[in-house]
Amino acid sequence: MPELLQEWVTLQAERQPGVAVVGNNERLTYARLEERSNQLARLLKEAGCKSGDRVCLLMPKSPTAIVSLLGIYKADCLYVPLDPAGPAARLAQIIQSCGSRWILAAGPVSGVLGALVDDERFRGSISVGWMGDGAAHGKFRTDFTRDDVESYPSAVLHYDHGGGDPAHLLFTSGSTGTPKGVTITHASVIRFVQWSTKYFGMAASDRVSGHSPLHFDLSIFDIFGAFAVGAELHLVPPELNVLPHKLAEFIRSAELTQWFSVPSVLTYMAKFDVVRVDDFPSLKRLLWCGEVFSTPALIHWMRRLPHVTFTNLYGPTEATIASSYYTVARCPEDERAPVPIGRACDGEELLVLDEGLRPVRPGEAGELHIAGAGLSPGYWGDPEKTRAAFPRRPGSADPGDRLYKTGDAAKVGADGLVYFLGRADSQIKSRGYRIELEEIEAALNALPDVGECAVVAVQTDGFEGAVVCCAYVPASGADGSPLAVRQALSAALPTYMLPARWRVLDRLPRNANGKIDRRHVTEAFASHGGPAGGVG
Ligand code: AMP
Repeated sequence: MPELLQEWVTLQAERQPGVAVVGNNERLTYARLEERSNQLARLLKEAGCKSGDRVCLLMPKSPTAIVSLLGIYKADCLYVPLDPAGPAARLAQIIQSCGSRWILAAGPVSGVLGALVDDERFRGSISVGWMGDGAAHGKFRTDFTRDDVESYPSAVLHYDHGGGDPAHLLFTSGSTGTPKGVTITHASVIRFVQWSTKYFGMAASDRVSGHSPLHFDLSIFDIFGAFAVGAELHLVPPELNVLPHKLAEFIRSAELTQWFSVPSVLTYMAKFDVVRVDDFPSLKRLLWCGEVFSTPALIHWMRRLPHVTFTNLYGPTEATIASSYYTVARCPEDERAPVPIGRACDGEELLVLDEGLRPVRPGEAGELHIAGAGLSPGYWGDPEKTRAAFPRRPGSADPGDRLYKTGDAAKVGADGLVYFLGRADSQIKSRGYRIELEEIEAALNALPDVGECAVVAVQTDGFEGAVVCCAYVPASGADGSPLAVRQALSAALPTYMLPARWRVLDRLPRNANGKIDRRHVTEAFASHGGPAGGVG
């Protein structure tokens, strides 16, 4: 078993001539993936990348992106995926908080890349490697291009890193207004991949979907689940996400054997009824993670695909991909019956605890805590947040015996399985994206047009899950129209974080303590919020 993630590719390249990754009109064999990532690692080292450096990846999902992240690992560095559709201001916060001096870029990113390179905070200190075709189209200078990479030797490298070293940083929404970087080690991913490939019986004959974007941790399982067994990874073009018929056609024509995504995608496909009875004859398993998959939508899928195994995976980024699983034995009859998040994966532990970190009684609700091999070492450069989210297990003398406080409410059912009950704080999921409503409020409060605001989420039955809603009072004398505020906000936040419903008020409702009454705001949106996307 390898100690480092990239060693799986080296092993497969020696063993089999097959295709590793397909996408963007390109197919790369394991041998090519191995050679190209070795060349890139050599170039990075020669260019001055030191062991442990954080290298940002600014490119859409593609075989080139996979070569790049492997090259980063092979240079003993950490890869930090940046959302190529994200606003430059937020990406700059990420670059700053991880102290990166390197960006590998490709694809239609010149606008955002130019803004980053010109950012006063980084001017002169960021090196850019252009991994796309031809030269970068932009006014910025690139330090090397793909042609330069190809001039380097492709033999295997010697690595300084061990399994306990960080492999990547995944930035998630932060309640204080800045994204927080979750550090993930090689060993944590390898542990999950070992368990999951065995549990699901994955093999070299598999054709696995790569649906999630690279800045989302499900993508790590897509990539290394496939590479661990020598399977083919089929990258799903992100533009298909709004075309459910095309998504279904993709599964059919690529003859996928495994699909893994957030439930919103599956619910969207169910809504447009794009899956036929006995469709996708090659498909063996369908997995989801990241949010609740509603039972009616699950029934819709299970009735159409009786030959497929359906598994719910649960877990936060901080515990590496997933910590528990539940394979649905038969199609549920009761549409109201919740699907459990199940049992801990091997090497993991789920604990339902009260506020004093004491176990609650079976059947009682408490906060779900996770222990075990998947736990992140913590948030990059933020020991305070790390200590708060990863307390030591009560009664344990070992400082390494830690828990992760998920913030999720859960209970253990009479069947011994764990059930997810929702959240008590302002973290939500919308279209599968993890969002701290407080990050949106912080960005709104920084706008000169906004006097004060309350950002809430309204749960819908639709595929989007929760819809983000904003009530605000314009600053005196400001234009403050929802269109103007939305426009200004889009320079600070990615599109998926922008509120879909807006309400302009003279003042925000307050409770008896004088605090903004968010419950009142939520109820007002829920009762007559107007259609999502509208401006109320
Ligand atoms: P992320 O870090 O983006 O994976 O988000 C983690 C959060 O997503 C968890 O703390 C849960 O609130 C939610 N979540 C993840 N998986 C599931 C699931 N299978 N069912 C319900 N909620 C989930």
